Amino acid sequence: MSQEILTLSRKQNGTVPSPRPRRPPSAPFRSQQNSAPRSLPPAAQRAPLPLGPPRPPSPRPLGAVVRELRAPACPAASRAGRSGAAWRCAAACGPGEGLCAPRGRRGRPPAGAAPAPPAFGFLFDIDGVLVRGSQVVPAAREAFRRLSDAGGRLRVPVVFLTNAGNCLRAAKARELSQALGLQVSPEQVILSHSPLRLFSQFHPKCMLVAGQGPVEENARNLGFKHVVTIEALRKAYPLLDMVDQSRRPKELFPSISSNLPGVVLFGEPVRWETSLQLITDVLLSNGNPGAEPEGIPYPHLPVLACNMDLLWMAEAKMPSRFGHGTFLLCLENIYKKVTGRELKYEALIGKPSTVTYRYAEYLIKEQAEKHGWKAPIRRLYAIGDNPMSDVYGANLYNNYLKSAQQNQVKAGVERIPQAANPQTEDNLGVESCESILVCTGVYRHNADVCRKPEECNTETVFHGHRDFCFDPSLVEASYIVQDVNEAVQLAFEKENWS
Ligand SMILES: [Mg+2]
Repeated sequence: MSQEILTLSRKQNGTVPSPRPRRPPSAPFRSQQNSAPRSLPPAAQRAPLPLGPPRPPSPRPLGAVVRELRAPACPAASRAGRSGAAWRCAAACGPGEGLCAPRGRRGRPPAGAAPAPPAFGFLFDIDGVLVRGSQVVPAAREAFRRLSDAGGRLRVPVVFLTNAGNCLRAAKARELSQALGLQVSPEQVILSHSPLRLFSQFHPKCMLVAGQGPVEENARNLGFKHVVTIEALRKAYPLLDMVDQSRRPKELFPSISSNLPGVVLFGEPVRWETSLQLITDVLLSNGNPGAEPEGIPYPHLPVLACNMDLLWMAEAKMPSRFGHGTFLLCLENIYKKVTGRELKYEALIGKPSTVTYRYAEYLIKEQAEKHGWKAPIRRLYAIGDNPMSDVYGANLYNNYLKSAQQNQVKAGVERIPQAANPQTEDNLGVESCESILVCTGVYRHNADVCRKPEECNTETVFHGHRDFCFDPSLVEASYIVQDVNEAVQLAFEKENWS
């Protein structure tokens, strides 16, 4: 991996970020909005990552924005009327018409010739797109039949992008293989914490890790050499966790000297009060919770957090289960209340973070290279069911790609004027990341039709993370289709590929 350092960006209250110069390798960095690893694999290197939403938050209520998702944007959609128009678009548009119009011939081979190598790849969300709980979405099998050759091998690079994290990558790959009826490798799976592999500067350090499931094994697999779990810390400092009377120590223990230089939050833990207390203790003690603190250290130790989902859907009739985003909200508020200062993140990863999409792009390219597909990957299709994570993340990354292209073209103009033409500049890499929203999960195309204005007020709450400003345009999907099979079909039509 290259040691090239990527510039990180801070939140700037929704203002358009300007690219920053690369930092020298020794420079410390910290990001509140969206951060990047110090090094990325060569194929993933690009311009500095964006701050996040490129425009200031809109005063428009979320309900209005969600309703506008279906605003007619193509002739067929317009004919279909306002309600459900965009959803109908993929099925209603004829060839060369509206949103579904192919962008032009992209190498469809003559009859009998071998298909051209794919210049595109897919990013599939899992829950609500391919499966719902333990049930496979029927369209998912159809989609993967379409994506596979006669031998069951994928014809197009594919990664599975989920905010789940309380499991091993290999276990998720096995689940997907069983669900989809084809071999999925762990290298195709991106869990919420997978991009931590890129944050190699923290791997040799002794980090405090929080979460549930195989946290230590996940940390080891990601490259962390020494980690201390919340449970191990609680045992080492039994006087810190005092909420549960039954777990209070019966005798005093001598404190153990240690130094924890950072915290990695993998996902929502069990016994939140214990994790909240101990993480706060580590931050306030500058990594040494056995010592008597001398003032509040600030900036505090680096905190890396995975998965910002406030809520998630389970089998319960009540739709909202607390996700890691809720835990982070508690931690942020406790820290601010106690210290009067903001908790800042070294990295926020998982959808909709740009770091996660960059990592997905890297894996897609790596997969294409392994298969010997010679065409450079130029377009990504991100298929998901959640406007606030899947659509927002894909659109945010798409904005980043466009901005990076503009910067490269500008640089080309300055360097060699004739290189400014994107058609002749072969180094531009991926051009776009289009968001395709399906209706088999969180998003339902009928659910946002308000019969009475007062009913719409329930949709005005932004559930995104504190450091991601709400920009209505970022939750507008490029396309809305019924299911994942239609999504793949749509992408194939756009690519003129079969
Ligand atoms: Mg989903």
